Amino acid sequence: MIIIYVKNIFEPIHTAIPENIECPNCSKKNTLEITVYQKHIETGLSYKVTKKLSGTAFCTNCNTDIANVQWSKKIETAFNKLKEQSKIEKPYVKWSKSFKLLLGFLGIAFTSIGIYIYILFASNKAKQHFFENPSANNKILVSHSVRENYSKTEDYGNSWAVIRKIKGDTIVIQFHKERVLLEEISNSKAPKSVYNGLTYKIKKNEFREKKRVTQYHKKNGLGLSFGYIWNFEKE
Ligand SMILES: [Zn+2]
Repeated sequence: MIIIYVKNIFEPIHTAIPENIECPNCSKKNTLEITVYQKHIETGLSYKVTKKLSGTAFCTNCNTDIANVQWSKKIETAFNKLKEQSKIEKPYVKWSKSFKLLLGFLGIAFTSIGIYIYILFASNKAKQHFFENPSANNKILVSHSVRENYSKTEDYGNSWAVIRKIKGDTIVIQFHKERVLLEEISNSKAPKSVYNGLTYKIKKNEFREKKRVTQYHKKNGLGLSFGYIWNFEKE
């Protein structure tokens, strides 16, 4: 877990008691100790040395911290002089191990998401192309049902079918007699030959838009054969 916090560190870099400076509190001279600090910032993800400098004044006689607002012109001048004499650490930023880990993790996550989206996009495009441009000898894996009337639907299971021919807006498909078990659907490959099962004439539009096969097989009444297309193979 990465904890984000911000900690300001004031690193003393120079301390001196300048001569002839009066304490605003006890008015004694040569007792005011001025310290110059360089600001460091530590967070859970980085350590930064800034170029910001600040100062404090402390009277060794009356043991009092003299707040910046109480500083006399003389203290101000002395502080500025001390700043110039200070050995300032060169500013830098160091990124923590957690930050590098986080970056690495984000890098991997974004790459994976990118690849995943690309695969989805590519496979969707291939699918779209297949359904928009059906051609003879292409195979489809169909989950197949037949409904004779409103109350009775018969499940014909899943089987491969071949596109025999396309004529106008009609596609003629013929099923293979062998069924594919539900648990084998995702790994199933289309048989190369002997498609000698049922023959359907289906509408090209429905095939293209709804990715299914539908045929009314009775002259009168319902008599609907329909199927959801699970998979496809191009010849
Ligand atoms: Zn004092």
